[in-house]
Amino acid sequence: MCADLAIGCHLSTSGGFIAMGETALSIGATTFAFFTRNPRGGNAKPIDPADAAGLREIMASNGFGKLVAHAPYTLNLCSAKPDVVEFARRSMKDDLARMEFLPGNLYNFHPGSHVGQGVDEGIRLIVEGLDEILDPSQSTTVLLETMSGKGSEVGSTFEELSRILEGVHDDSHLGVCLDTCHVWDGGYDIRADLDGVLDEFDRIIGLERLCALHLNDSKNVCGSHKDRHEKIGAGELGTDAFAAVVSNPRLRHLPMILETPNELAGYAAEISLLRRYAGGVM
Ligand code: FE
Ligand code: FE
Ligand code: ZN
Repeated sequence: MCADLAIGCHLSTSGGFIAMGETALSIGATTFAFFTRNPRGGNAKPIDPADAAGLREIMASNGFGKLVAHAPYTLNLCSAKPDVVEFARRSMKDDLARMEFLPGNLYNFHPGSHVGQGVDEGIRLIVEGLDEILDPSQSTTVLLETMSGKGSEVGSTFEELSRILEGVHDDSHLGVCLDTCHVWDGGYDIRADLDGVLDEFDRIIGLERLCALHLNDSKNVCGSHKDRHEKIGAGELGTDAFAAVVSNPRLRHLPMILETPNELAGYAAEISLLRRYAGGVM
């Protein structure tokens, strides 16, 4: 039996950090994700240091894994509009300063959409942005999320992610978050050959860079480039694929975040289901 998976879901920030920790405990979660600010941009709420300390205490006394904060998905480091790029850089830099109230956790972002400028220019802008954003003294690891390749998204292939990682001047605070729906929609068949895909990830990026998982089933077939999440087991990936993911020795130690279409009760059920799969109880 393996109750030691670090698994959770996206939680609302509206009640603050301690409230998120308590909600996590109430659904059997031992990590969670939250948006660092409103997806529509604007200023982030000031951090209450006592609230952050309270969450750190809850995490320490309940064996939580690392948190996986999520940058607003509306930020675009490789927009064709300089003011949009500048806003993304400023917001991410501010987010990382705020993350230091919860030291040593993870901050995930979508690399961006090149909006017709081409992948090369997209990658150049993402690298330039990260060079500006990353601070050698930060304790947070910034994660590039694997994308589905919808529209002009950059980062739907391991090669593109590797080019970003290799381009950044100091990559010591960079990693990757693998989203199961996104890689599947991007054309990596983790249902038929999870270990083959992980071998490819290892060859091109290096598994030591893999720091977190987003667990989502997909409404669409492999390679569809659609990015429509489905409940665990209700989509094209199916329950067996998730049993394989959570019990894989190369993955099971990573923080796992559900982004499935659910309310809290649905998340609680998926968390307990996946814990059972990890323990080998089918
Ligand atoms: Fe995401
Ligand atoms: Fe995701
Ligand atoms: Zn998605």
